[in-house]
Amino acid sequence: MTLVKVQKLTKTYGKKTVVNGIDIEFGHHKCVALIGPNGAGKTTTLRMLAGLLKPTSGSIYFESQNKTPDIREFIGYLPQYPAFHTWMTGREFLTFSGKLANLSKEEANKRADELLKEVGISREAQDERISRYSGGMKQRLGIAQAIIHKPKLLILDEPVASLDPIGRREVLILMEKLKEEMTILFSTHILNDAEEISDELILLNDGKVIESGKLTELRKKYQTTVIELQVDDDITKYVDRINNLQAVLNTKIERDILYITSDHLNNARKEILNLVLTENWPVTTFSINKASLEDMFMKVVNS
Ligand code: ADP
Repeated sequence: MTLVKVQKLTKTYGKKTVVNGIDIEFGHHKCVALIGPNGAGKTTTLRMLAGLLKPTSGSIYFESQNKTPDIREFIGYLPQYPAFHTWMTGREFLTFSGKLANLSKEEANKRADELLKEVGISREAQDERISRYSGGMKQRLGIAQAIIHKPKLLILDEPVASLDPIGRREVLILMEKLKEEMTILFSTHILNDAEEISDELILLNDGKVIESGKLTELRKKYQTTVIELQVDDDITKYVDRINNLQAVLNTKIERDILYITSDHLNNARKEILNLVLTENWPVTTFSINKASLEDMFMKVVNS
């Protein structure tokens, strides 16, 4: 069932169109990644969806609109650079946020307790000032605050971009867990993060959706295979022989490694190994790697 449907959403500033007629649709309990380089229009799109920025034109439909005209009940939003009252403790901050979300004092206390546990703020840290929290802890606290009212849609703008590897891991694990309870729409310019946790991808470039769909489907559509070949010899002597093979699309050499691209893995493997065996090449490495999401993105942008 559709949770959010966006049609021809557009935002212009003066003569500049930063979001250019985008259509997006997704359902419940999904993790949807909005991917694109800096300046693609991700933040602008998310802020329009969160109701913080008025679209120039287009429509946004939320399932909840059948029941409530106030979509704020339905959405949780964490900006890219969240601001905290850092003199407060994590628990105080969440209780305060709960009261702002119209919870009674008891409800706010109870919810703060639940959330501190859910986002994994340790017992000692719960009563420490936020100023002493690590980046990952702050981000998890920010997420707790964004879901205090149990929204169906959680919007996160670049949730892991500023974190170190440990903080990044903690937040990605939390997002995996939260997906059981709600849909998460998050933006990122780091493709690995999207690859790791999202079910669906929306690729944005220059304010336009250039591709969207399930990760598995997009992989199938754009996937090429890269075979790495190394020999105990000057690799340039072997390149022409590889280039002449039918299943090979192209090759490049980087630091003694020959990268061979093909979209027919089985054929390419057979042809290359045949050559290696019949001509007795001094092979030291033969490995097969799937092209990364980054390769896929470049392919989509350039197609
Ligand atoms: P992203 O999040 O993908 O990096 P943004 O949505 O922040 O992209 O910005 C998209 C484009 O819109 C950028 O070129 C940015 O400079 C421009 N932009 C964003 N906000 C404004 C504004 N208030 N006035 C004018 N231009 C803006």
